[in-house]
Amino acid sequence: MNKPRVGLVGLGKMGAPMAANIVQGGYSLTVFDLNEDAAKQVATSTGAVVAANLQDLARDCGMVIAMVPDGKAVRHLFLDQGMADAASPGTIFIDMSSSDPNGTRALGAEMTARGLKFIDAPVSGGVKGAENGTLSIMIGGDDAVIDACEPLLSTMGGQLFRTGALGCGHAMKALNNYVSAAGVVAAIEALRMGEAFGLDPTHMTDILNVSTGRNNTTEKKIKQHVIPQTYGSGFSLGLMCKDIATAVSIGQSVNQNIPFAESCLTYWNDALETLGPDADHTAAVDKPQK
Ligand code: NAD
Repeated sequence: MNKPRVGLVGLGKMGAPMAANIVQGGYSLTVFDLNEDAAKQVATSTGAVVAANLQDLARDCGMVIAMVPDGKAVRHLFLDQGMADAASPGTIFIDMSSSDPNGTRALGAEMTARGLKFIDAPVSGGVKGAENGTLSIMIGGDDAVIDACEPLLSTMGGQLFRTGALGCGHAMKALNNYVSAAGVVAAIEALRMGEAFGLDPTHMTDILNVSTGRNNTTEKKIKQHVIPQTYGSGFSLGLMCKDIATAVSIGQSVNQNIPFAESCLTYWNDALETLGPDADHTAAVDKPQK
């Protein structure tokens, strides 16, 4: 089967390395970003074509990926900026951003009414996973559409998971990031307590990593980004707060009592207030204690 031309909108920390892997996988790629320099850089390094505008990209591509900050931005691109109107019937739109799942379902209904196909396929694995093509991809939507997208998604992902109906991928992603965010807070509070008590944070991390307290933060963030105070994980505080807020709103939409998730959100929102959205999320360790 001929590979369709792929369009990718959003060439930030994740989208740029994903573009390289799509091209590496043998697809012709058209890209667009509000930041023209980001688009030019990807074109230079991968051979992708930069679209003159979003409608052209939607018209020229059989599959269109969004990798932008959130679901509101995706809705704005697809509906308000005319991508859905410009696309041929049957074009597949894939939202790989970490979006709100209820918004995804609402957008999906509007895309389907226009004769378009739509799945959600958010990712986990960070910038390294995007660079190495080893992202975990959590996919929601119609099985036949996912079948058609799997070869493309496999160029970016090591593991592809079918999570259920449209929106389930986005729900899974937000809930994953809530668990990850709670793990950051637990680890940094433990280190802060331990240091004040007379323990060495590096030694503590080594002990946690071979004990039952280990988690993704103790293994991949504390010694790499927090103790050297470099805070360069590549995942911003603003995006982290957005994901935890999404997780809390999922809990509220299904009437669950979630006091721990709510206090986790408060912790991160306090850090956001102090450090701003562009700080790396690992810098939240330094937020002043209230
Ligand atoms: P980023 O801020 O680095 O990149 C976003 C890009 O989208 C920017 O280049 C921006 O110019 C572009 N953009 C925004 N609105 C646009 C619009 N209307 N039209 C065209 N371009 C637009 O963000 P990122 O870290 O690459 O994250 C992208 C998505 O992936 C987010 O939903 C994030 O939550 C998710 N995510 C990020 C990571 C990570 O480690 N950074 C990991 C997993 C998932």
